[in-house]
Amino acid sequence: MPFDRRIHPTRSTDWQHTGGAAAEPTAIEAERRLTPFQAVNLQFERAADLIGLAEDLRIALKTPFREVMVEVPLRCVDGRIRTFSGYRVQHDNSRGPMKGGLRYHPEVDLDEVRALASLMTWKTAVVGVPYGGAKGGINCDPREFDPQDIEQLTRRFVGRLEPFIGPHEDIPAPDVNTNAQVMAWIVDEYAKYHGFTPAVVTGKPLELGGSVGRESATGRGILFATQRTVAATGTILEGARVAVQGFGNVGSWTAHFLSQAGAKVVAVSDMHGGVFDGDGIDVDTLRREAKVAGRIPDGTGREAITNEELLALDVDILIPAALGNALHSRNAPSVRARLIVEGANHPVTPGADEDFRSRGIVVVPDILANAGGVTVSYFEWVQNLQRFRWKPERVDEELHSTMDAAYDAVSELAKAHATDLRTAAFALAITRVSEATRLRGVG
Ligand code: NAD
Repeated sequence: MPFDRRIHPTRSTDWQHTGGAAAEPTAIEAERRLTPFQAVNLQFERAADLIGLAEDLRIALKTPFREVMVEVPLRCVDGRIRTFSGYRVQHDNSRGPMKGGLRYHPEVDLDEVRALASLMTWKTAVVGVPYGGAKGGINCDPREFDPQDIEQLTRRFVGRLEPFIGPHEDIPAPDVNTNAQVMAWIVDEYAKYHGFTPAVVTGKPLELGGSVGRESATGRGILFATQRTVAATGTILEGARVAVQGFGNVGSWTAHFLSQAGAKVVAVSDMHGGVFDGDGIDVDTLRREAKVAGRIPDGTGREAITNEELLALDVDILIPAALGNALHSRNAPSVRARLIVEGANHPVTPGADEDFRSRGIVVVPDILANAGGVTVSYFEWVQNLQRFRWKPERVDEELHSTMDAAYDAVSELAKAHATDLRTAAFALAITRVSEATRLRGVG
């Protein structure tokens, strides 16, 4: 049984036949019908089969602990009243307080947030930080807002969410279209109810108890995961040609660290499109230009390309670092990279994953590759609870050793079971979470 329909049949049309004699769906059609949460649970089931997990535990582990849905009304600076839907899904807390980002994006919905929350449960377990998983967001397009609107929207959301979050309950962090400033507003709003409590969120500005190295942590972690994988496959990073989709926090820091390590970043893109330079892009110059322009600008020596062209480039390493489902059954066959490192969460659909497996393309899964962010979030939380600041070298060293240990554990399991890194990472995580669940007992 690939996934459990009894839980969360949110997109009912995904399951309804459209009438007439029902033909067997093609693999591509079947994949289109999968919701993000069902796709994650397909990966879960594959690993659960590998470790022989009992059916009752499978249901217990897949079912979210709590789901909070709220109306977020906003009086915009232009005088209009607009109403948005806000979500926080708390997936599992057997290993510790729940942890995960907050996303402001028009595609945010309950099913996607469930998928992302469950990925956080497996991710925190893979890197062995003492957290469960959660995720949240508001269904809105921040590009339509004045910055004051974003502040008011955030404060309204916290007003509705504050009974459910806290340093020992659930700790949000930045994700797509949220940043340190948004976390600062959350600290301030939460303080109105509970007093000054910086440990309620991570990814804060340094002045409010943020950690050095948090902003760049996901990209730095992706560098470590990439270096480990490249070494394991007997190749070298120096001179390797890299394409990165997404040039926000994760994509731009990843491009920075990989080019610092000697890789040749030949293409990057954002939601508007991308640029290509076969001789290698000067990543730091482009990062500065993009910061000023608010998007990737054209530039001397850089050729404009589309996102689809970027994904199909003849490169050694492809890093999807934007949104989910970027690589699917239809575009997977055109991918020519030999290594895919998932900077984004669930950027590869199950159908694309199967294509890559069959062609021997190595995929480093999201729950391992992009876990550097939650790892340094954990360091930030520890510093907040201890009221003590770590030096940058300590943050980097601890991140490096955590990522290497996680990679090695996943890679050993993959070898032992002759399976891929994603299935091994899920198997490791499920083993850890189910053991914590068993030890705590049900009652
Ligand atoms: P961000 O908002 O900083 O950047 C997102 C980037 O993706 C932007 O450059 C945007 O233009 C681009 N983008 C959006 N839609 C696109 C499209 N359709 N095609 C191509 N590019 C598109 O977000 P972020 O924090 O960098 O997060 C990116 C991904 O990494 C998300 O999947 C997020 O969940 C995941 N992630 C983030 C962190 C973190 O610490 N921020 C940690 C782990 C995973």
